[in-house]
Amino acid sequence: MSGATKDQEPDAGIGEASPTRDRVVRALTDDDTFRVMVAVTSRTVRGAIEAQRARGETARHFADLLTGAVLVRETMAPQYRVQAVLKGARGRGTLVADAHPDGLTRGLVQVSDDERLTLGAGGSLLMMRGGANRMYRSVTEPPDGGSVAEALMVYLQTSEQIISVTAVGATTRDDSIEHAGGYLVQLLPGAARGPLMVMTERLAAMPPIGELLASVGGDADALLAELLYLMPHTKLGDSDVRHGCLCDVNAVLASLGTLPREEIVELMKGDEVLELSCDYCRTEYAIPTTRLEGLLARS
Ligand SMILES: [Zn+2]
Repeated sequence: MSGATKDQEPDAGIGEASPTRDRVVRALTDDDTFRVMVAVTSRTVRGAIEAQRARGETARHFADLLTGAVLVRETMAPQYRVQAVLKGARGRGTLVADAHPDGLTRGLVQVSDDERLTLGAGGSLLMMRGGANRMYRSVTEPPDGGSVAEALMVYLQTSEQIISVTAVGATTRDDSIEHAGGYLVQLLPGAARGPLMVMTERLAAMPPIGELLASVGGDADALLAELLYLMPHTKLGDSDVRHGCLCDVNAVLASLGTLPREEIVELMKGDEVLELSCDYCRTEYAIPTTRLEGLLARS
């Protein structure tokens, strides 16, 4: 796959200084008790939902998974890629979030129209993080009837030994995402459990994440200040997040390489040009069938 990047939703008219551009910020409380990650992902989530034509409850879970993947990447592996694959209860429906170190984030929705994706028994959350040389994988079962945030907290605690309070969410207006984002408050190793109880109560007393995002106008810094009100802290990182894709004609062609040889031969008998689209961004590629010969040579 080439390293070229295709942005699906350029920030038309929004300057660098805009507080509402999609970002993820990281901070540490000065008493070394908490690390806090705050993500604003409104445009990213809107772009991914539009590309995947997700709707209703599926779109809400998809929004949460995209934000969650950004938060986990920022928490565990800012230099690496994080992929989250959520399978619905009874194995019905799959959502994928794919967050890259340069902020590029994309996703996949594989849920049939008559299906409703819910979390619970028979479902799973597969998290993958790493680079070309080393990939960590972990599978956990989301709590029955729970939220993506709860599934992420289970994963973080059981697979990464990270105790956190995590919230992800979105608000909609006219069937379109208005605000999306979330936070992850991590109790640092060695810190006493007492402060966690105080923090948990503090966060529980706050409005739901969607309301919080709306109240700060989608500004990540203002959300951080709200979460850590009167708690001295230092900002450690601030990076952009955006919806985009990494596909090119070779990547789309390579996806055909998993087909059985007979099916590739069958495709070559058809039209001279094969119309294929990227599953993530729906970009269409016209591929001459002669290019499939290369796949046969390898299969
Ligand atoms: Zn694509």
